Amino acid sequence: MSANGFPERPVRPGDRLRPGVRNSGSLLVDNIGELVTNDPRAGDPLGLRRDAAVLVEDGQVAWVGPARDAPAADRRIDAEGGAVLPGFVDSHAHLVFAGDRAAEFAARMAGEPYTGGGIRTTVGATRAASDDELRATVRRLRGEAMRQGTTTVEIKSGYGLTVADEARSLRIAAEFTKDTTFLGAHVVPAEYADRPDDYVGMVCGPMLAAAAPHARWIDVFCERGAFDVDHARAILACGQAVGLGVRVHANQLGPGPGVQLGVELGAASVDHCTHLTDADIDALASSRVDCMCPDGLHTATVATLLPGAEFSTRSPYPDARRLLDAGVTVALATDCNPGSSYTSSMPFCIALAVREMRMTPAEAVWAATAGGAAALRRNDVGRLARGARADLMILDAPSHLHLAYRPGVPLIRQVLHNGVPQCRP
Ligand SMILES: [Zn+2]
Repeated sequence: MSANGFPERPVRPGDRLRPGVRNSGSLLVDNIGELVTNDPRAGDPLGLRRDAAVLVEDGQVAWVGPARDAPAADRRIDAEGGAVLPGFVDSHAHLVFAGDRAAEFAARMAGEPYTGGGIRTTVGATRAASDDELRATVRRLRGEAMRQGTTTVEIKSGYGLTVADEARSLRIAAEFTKDTTFLGAHVVPAEYADRPDDYVGMVCGPMLAAAAPHARWIDVFCERGAFDVDHARAILACGQAVGLGVRVHANQLGPGPGVQLGVELGAASVDHCTHLTDADIDALASSRVDCMCPDGLHTATVATLLPGAEFSTRSPYPDARRLLDAGVTVALATDCNPGSSYTSSMPFCIALAVREMRMTPAEAVWAATAGGAAALRRNDVGRLARGARADLMILDAPSHLHLAYRPGVPLIRQVLHNGVPQCRP
């Protein structure tokens, strides 16, 4: 196995690509069946191009254009008629934890309701784990996601819930991504159960001070049974005061104030959005800005939908159509965590979004790439245009439609991350 867990494949004559190794010089990807650029100038939301080629240099996209005009390159990858897409941007994942909760999943499938209380089980296991054990889990899940096309992942803390355990969770997360999120306000840990105000004081004080050097974002689980709106507002404001961007777990288990709080605070994303009122949708739509991307269609606060959670808790899915029709920018992410959504698969989330959430395949693919980038306020990923990071995947299928049309099938033949092939084509 290679560093990312891809099986090593036989070397072909003349094949100079080495998986996991940065090869010097330029690289041309051609014989592409369909290229998804997410460049709105191409006339449709996915910026589809036929007969296109992509030139990669120094880890970036250096050129995109008709294959017949392709510049000479040192090396070539033949896409063999497969579709090429930007790598997935998974903007919501909880990868730093120990243990699993397979028995809880089985009990839920046998009829027990999901309450969010199982988080404390994972907190106990995470506190007891060594740094190396936590690191090994992140590495395993990161490799698993990469093999399924994910080239950018956000990673949250939130299973430590002590000053030291939150800081080390973020330190380990930062070894794998720039998009680290401090989620000390995931649940109130058992030892603070009867004094939540004291816990909030600690999150805003010493825990934030220890976490902030390793974090780009702050997040709160604003939900009945977790943190109420006043606590959530206080914690998020403390994070903003030290320069962290805001994200919110909101409106997952029932209607609530989380979405509107997120918009009020200028959150980059409100996540879950399963139970929304018309006022919630209006608030999101009102955050529309015309400066974030070339098509001017983004809302400053993105609605990030996490259908793996509804799947794994057998809950009603969010209605993406309602958000899209109101002009709200939608992202799809995995919510990968050991309790409510233990999947790292963006193609699985795309299939669920199309089947269960009234998204078209094109909307779902956009939400899993450019939408995720918007949710992380990144313009270097989620698109394939000159200057973007050379993160892309080649499918064993002629178009993006197959990601939803062929659910559960390993369609991703090759992934380039920072221009580096992750497996041999
Ligand atoms: Zn989550």
